[in-house]
Amino acid sequence: MIQLEGIVKSFSMAEGQMTILHGIDLHIRPGEMVAIMGPSGSGKSTLMNILGCLDAPSTGRYMLDGTDVTKLSKKQLARARGEKIGFVFQSFNLIPRTSALRNVELPLVYNGARGRKAKAKAALERVGLGSRLGHVPSELSGGQKQRVAIARALINDPAIILADEPTGALDTKSTTEIMDLFTELNAAGATIVVITHEDEVAEYCTRRIWLRDGVIRSDEPVHNRRTTLEKISA
Ligand code: ADP
Ligand code: MG
Repeated sequence: MIQLEGIVKSFSMAEGQMTILHGIDLHIRPGEMVAIMGPSGSGKSTLMNILGCLDAPSTGRYMLDGTDVTKLSKKQLARARGEKIGFVFQSFNLIPRTSALRNVELPLVYNGARGRKAKAKAALERVGLGSRLGHVPSELSGGQKQRVAIARALINDPAIILADEPTGALDTKSTTEIMDLFTELNAAGATIVVITHEDEVAEYCTRRIWLRDGVIRSDEPVHNRRTTLEKISA
């Protein structure tokens, strides 16, 4: 599904070239739930932006579902992103004074999709917020806001969900709620990549990757995967 080969990312700075990712090889199969960990500045978000087709690598090859995305035009890349990938961020990125329903619907408003209200409602029901459609972000808890953001990420039914520190701004209870939701989505078939600083969050995943100074230092399966769900219907 996701295959990175020799991915290098450098930026030109006043002081010269700065290389952030030093040749990343990574294969993620459908149905995996991968945690990416590592100290601040190790290149996690840079890697996530490349995985999400938000940014292009300097060199290397990225095969997404059999397509070499490094060869796509900006327009083709945006389409691949819209069809296949949903994003979730630490800061929710919701529009204030705008209902949950409208926030979730917005990605579809730009391309004028039909039936978008019904789709947005279904996505909010899927994350357990069917009774909060008209609430604005300030009327929701942190965990609920993140669930709205997850519903928005689900609106196009993406095969891949990329989450950059999705529980970084949440308390323990909301963290559990969000990780249970990701576990459910993963059990229903979504491939998920989560950047996190918390061991507890990584324990919900099937695989844990440790990044340091732009290099993968370890890549191991998670044993005794954590969940508070009764059962995972995988
Ligand atoms: P992490 O998410 O692991 O904290 P990042 O991927 O955000 O790390 O950043 C890794 C390094 O790359 C940091 O030192 C950051 O300052 C640098 N960096 C990230 N994006 C850019 C950019 N657009 N231009 C220059 N440097 C960048
Ligand atoms: Mg980051």
